[in-house]
Amino acid sequence: MKVFLQTFGCQMNLADSEEMFAHLHARGAQRALSPDEADVILVNTCTVREHAEHRAVSFLGRLAKWKQQKPGRRIIFAGCAAQRLGEGLKKEFPFLDLVSGAKKIDDFGRLLDASGLFPPQQETLPPQQEGLTGYVTIMRGCDFRCTYCIVPSVRGPVKCLPAQEILQQTAQKAAQGAKEIMLLGQTVNAYKDGDVSFADLLNRVSEVPGVERVRFMSPHPAYITPDFLAAVRHNPKIARHIHLPIQSGSTKVLQEMKRGYTRQMLLEKLAALQECGITVSTDIIVGFPTETEQDFEDTLTLVDKARFFAAYCFKYSPRQGTPAAQMPQLGQDVLEQRLDILLNKVRDLSALAYAQQVGTRQQVLMEEENKGRSSNNFWVKTAKNYKIGSIVDVEIARADGTLLFAKE
Ligand code: SF4
Repeated sequence: MKVFLQTFGCQMNLADSEEMFAHLHARGAQRALSPDEADVILVNTCTVREHAEHRAVSFLGRLAKWKQQKPGRRIIFAGCAAQRLGEGLKKEFPFLDLVSGAKKIDDFGRLLDASGLFPPQQETLPPQQEGLTGYVTIMRGCDFRCTYCIVPSVRGPVKCLPAQEILQQTAQKAAQGAKEIMLLGQTVNAYKDGDVSFADLLNRVSEVPGVERVRFMSPHPAYITPDFLAAVRHNPKIARHIHLPIQSGSTKVLQEMKRGYTRQMLLEKLAALQECGITVSTDIIVGFPTETEQDFEDTLTLVDKARFFAAYCFKYSPRQGTPAAQMPQLGQDVLEQRLDILLNKVRDLSALAYAQQVGTRQQVLMEEENKGRSSNNFWVKTAKNYKIGSIVDVEIARADGTLLFAKE
């Protein structure tokens, strides 16, 4: 049995696809590199934007022909869109074999067995870790209720995995060649298992033999705490980069989004991160329904102060079923104009951030023989070739576009 994974959406979904594949692997499955050679297609879906859900559903529609081409082929539709649309999908797509919503990941093995469509579980080694980064999901769900976001209603409240289980998974990935561990969760830094905080977990994961670097995604500003900052300050294995979605720089909009922090709190946390030598990238939404010209101006001035080295900027798009979708919306022309202004600013700041790396020393984890990623998340090209997976200490000679060049 060969399985092709088709994943839509975020890094967490990619990790979830691998976790579901591990259950299939334990039932004798191998990985297929294309749908043509596959017996099973697992579609892991995203519903964060309407567009993402449409893409997943139309992909499913196109699989009717694939299924007819060979008897015995199976289709599994999983993840956030599967959670939202539920079993009703089988009425519209009768050729669909199994629906497994995002809340069912822990139960996926049992669902496979209950369907009677797959062989029973055997004693097998886990699938081989690919690449230098091992992804480990440490929590699922979200306890916030941001007014533009559908995630809590499809993923449910926060559930943290036991620290012991996370350390075992880390050890397994490190033994299979992972040098960098990426801890994943919807609000990853809200992690708590008994008296193990997120900061404790970062330190413990970094102590696992073979682990050279620890990253995490996606943190929430409310949980940038003193003990997290202390952990970063004292532990060089914790990456000097954070992707911290701020969404807006206006206290009024942040309150209407129910983000749980103010502009002032953000400024203080960003300053503390900068003091620890951490580069920050972010996500920003422009054109939230109540965003005035002044609110947008507040976002621009915050971006100036924060000097993000990268920012993913999105036009607000209403998500059916969320409170913000019920508010009177701004016109598309306003959204486009604001996005344009913000993107220009971000481009300039990004070029500045690259230029500022010139003359600094960086620890580069080599992902190719002559290219790797610094702890603060810049791609660096080296003059000499090094062993893939090694960490080299280099001085940055120049910056060009989105690449840094090390000295000879
Ligand atoms: S923190 Fe807010 S934006 Fe992020 S998943 Fe939770 S509700 Fe959605």
